[in-house]
Amino acid sequence: MNEDFTATTSSVDKLTQELNKLPGIGPKSAQRLAYYLLRAPDEQAKLLADAILLVKQKTRLCSVCFNVTEADPCRICRNDQRDRSKVCIVEQPQDILALEHTGIYQGLYHVLHGAISPTEGVGADDIRIKELLHRLQDGSVSEVILATNTNLEGEQTAMYLNKLISPLGIKITRLARGLPFGTELEYADDVTLTRALEGRQEF
Ligand SMILES: [Zn+2]
Repeated sequence: MNEDFTATTSSVDKLTQELNKLPGIGPKSAQRLAYYLLRAPDEQAKLLADAILLVKQKTRLCSVCFNVTEADPCRICRNDQRDRSKVCIVEQPQDILALEHTGIYQGLYHVLHGAISPTEGVGADDIRIKELLHRLQDGSVSEVILATNTNLEGEQTAMYLNKLISPLGIKITRLARGLPFGTELEYADDVTLTRALEGRQEF
């Protein structure tokens, strides 16, 4: 085996390994993508590499709601037209995209960046709960909408938050049961999400 071949093989292996770390990409898909990129024009590979670097350099988390943003505070937190008395709590920034797409919610958000999951070792201190409680201290929020996923972790997190927020005298609602159990918000369609938002019930 000559040296060049070794080098090529290991660089393909390295790319395959890195792709395999991405969510939803198994070893077979990672290999397929790696060989696709290997054969793709240089320009295409460069555009992908640049886009990855750019998103890391340009984006950060909003210091108020922890949404992904290029300007702090984010576009939603800065918008004077939004209803500042409502805060919708979601697990991931992608959930905001799904809810915004319905166009019916005008309040603010808070991104937890995860859900409580004892089986995966994620506790209350590992997600942005402290920051949420801090935000709710000034009395400007009158309703908190628990929009965590309807799976086990999401329900556990909603119950935990309900217990913490109840003493603050803030109305707590949960997205309506129109969302089937096991739904991840980011994959729910507009109609289902709109119904769930409009039909939200006191927790
Ligand atoms: Zn924000």
